[in-house]
Amino acid sequence: MSNGPSRIAEFIKKALFVDFVKGLSITLKYNVSRSITLKYPDEEKWVPDRRFRGLHTLNKDENGRELCVACELCAKVCPTKCITVIPMEDDTGRGIADRVAKVWKVELARCMFCGYCEDACPTRALRLGRDYELACLDLSCAVKEKDELLRPQSIPETIQGGFIVRSRFERTPEGIKVVPDLRMQKKRNL
Ligand code: SF4
Ligand code: SF4
Repeated sequence: MSNGPSRIAEFIKKALFVDFVKGLSITLKYNVSRSITLKYPDEEKWVPDRRFRGLHTLNKDENGRELCVACELCAKVCPTKCITVIPMEDDTGRGIADRVAKVWKVELARCMFCGYCEDACPTRALRLGRDYELACLDLSCAVKEKDELLRPQSIPETIQGGFIVRSRFERTPEGIKVVPDLRMQKKRNL
């Protein structure tokens, strides 16, 4: 007898297709909500937040001098030993000290983007930037050397990030790249 009212409620629910209507309303809600699909790379590109850890970048000071003093701390602290630094003497003013990196390279295939290397850097020369298109067909492009890492990345430090903007294709020495249009006023949040 105590099951009577609940059985009646169950019957009414079934008769009125309540569960079906509930499911359909969820489907319809997603039909009219804004799409979160990213039209990458043809139309849009994600600009990661500043705390994102992507490709390594080597910084210069405001006078254009290399901040890296080739102390090798980044190479020592790296858990996968994928950084190689070979120092050399240079008193031409290329760097902030008379010791600069003759070789500074990172093997990305072994890097796990933990950020230990940038934390260890005493001169803030090294940062993990926001370039994330690192896929390649062979391992040759998985090794990044000093000259490439000294070039400014496509997303400057001053941009906060964490949004999607329009993109365009650009031919660079490393091949065709998808470049975000950072002048755009209208940004789409994720
Ligand atoms: S991010 Fe981590 S694994 Fe990659 S180079 Fe730096 S310390 Fe090594
Ligand atoms: S990047 Fe920084 S930690 Fe690495 S060798 Fe240069 S100064 Fe030293």
